Amino acid sequence: MKQIVIKSERTSPRLEYVLDFIFNQFFSCGYTIVNDGAHHISYEISPSADAIHIKSSDYLLGQELMPQDHIIDSTHQDFDLFAYIFYQLSRAEEYNYLSDDNFGRFPGRATSIVRNFSEPTVDIYLLQLAAQISDKNGIKLSRSEQFRLLHTVDVDQMFAYKHKNIKRKLGGLVSNMIQGDIGRIKDRAQVVSDETDPYNSFDILKLGAEESESHYFILVGDYNAIDNALEIEKPAIQTKIKELGKDAVIGIHPSVSSNNDSELLQKELTRLESVISSGVKNSRQHFLCLEFPNTYRKLIENGIEHDYTMGFHDQIGFRAGTSNSFYWFDLENNEATNLMIHPLITMDVSLKKYLKLDPAQALMQTKKLIDQCKKVNGPFCLLWHNSSFYAAEGWEGWQECYEGIVNYCKELKS
Ligand SMILES: [Zn+2]
Repeated sequence: MKQIVIKSERTSPRLEYVLDFIFNQFFSCGYTIVNDGAHHISYEISPSADAIHIKSSDYLLGQELMPQDHIIDSTHQDFDLFAYIFYQLSRAEEYNYLSDDNFGRFPGRATSIVRNFSEPTVDIYLLQLAAQISDKNGIKLSRSEQFRLLHTVDVDQMFAYKHKNIKRKLGGLVSNMIQGDIGRIKDRAQVVSDETDPYNSFDILKLGAEESESHYFILVGDYNAIDNALEIEKPAIQTKIKELGKDAVIGIHPSVSSNNDSELLQKELTRLESVISSGVKNSRQHFLCLEFPNTYRKLIENGIEHDYTMGFHDQIGFRAGTSNSFYWFDLENNEATNLMIHPLITMDVSLKKYLKLDPAQALMQTKKLIDQCKKVNGPFCLLWHNSSFYAAEGWEGWQECYEGIVNYCKELKS
């Protein structure tokens, strides 16, 4: 195995975490840290002859939460590439953030001015580093990932009208009547079979699900206004979950109420696991509610190994600066964890509700991000909801957008 030798007088959990990410996860090779002798990269304050120099700063060697601005500014002479990558992946800027959002979420607009989330800057810089290593040492680093569609669906409710208890049915009807929503009142009366239910769009979603790695995240929390969960005790719902699990991974979609309640998450996991008769290791937060470090600690406590929440609710792009998966580093404990984060690049609701794009504009914006993933040979993770095709709820024309996204990924992959 190729080994990249890095010269650094000191090491630390942060530095080792970054080097693990670069040389074991992003590229398939190995690395060693030395404090003397021949090396490919020097991570020191002053350059050494014949090696690529990355100017080290104190950020990775100490325990400060935030770095000084200039060391993560790529245009500055003190730019520390390893510190920049750590800053991006650890999401340092999201700790202690006082959110004015209803769900306590960190919005895209709050990111630091030195960040540009429309490009996977971490991936871009790493490919530049690989080119430098190749030029200088003739070592060709190979990328672990490849461009592909990572197709994910959040299932808050399996059906719009079918398999709801009578209280919910009546409540829904009354609210449609108050709003004068004739379309939905009509649909309620006309939906007689599961097949005609407007949220039963799983045949459409097969377009992306069949050829790609695919995940369904199921909301099984207790019912309330925010966690408008499906009723998992109903046999038809259970059958549907099992059916979806035949060609995709079933994961949990933890309720908002469970975000600060580890026992509640445990209860939700048990519900889902008893239906699919196996352990659940994959998760994405309902409403993308993610608070550092609580949310991830709670997932780890409950045996979750993969999280797919790392995307902005109000923006599309690269929240952690990368398309590549990475382990979560707990900044408060200053240690790497075994929770693997899979960055989410585009969510349907961000396109429509927050960015206020029409389907054609949404497709165009999303294609730009897909191009970025293709350029760095990384996965493009899409989140679509099974409810996001229903015209009476404002999703007219979005099937074309969804299909355009999936087909574009297929085109670029071939
Ligand atoms: Zn949800």
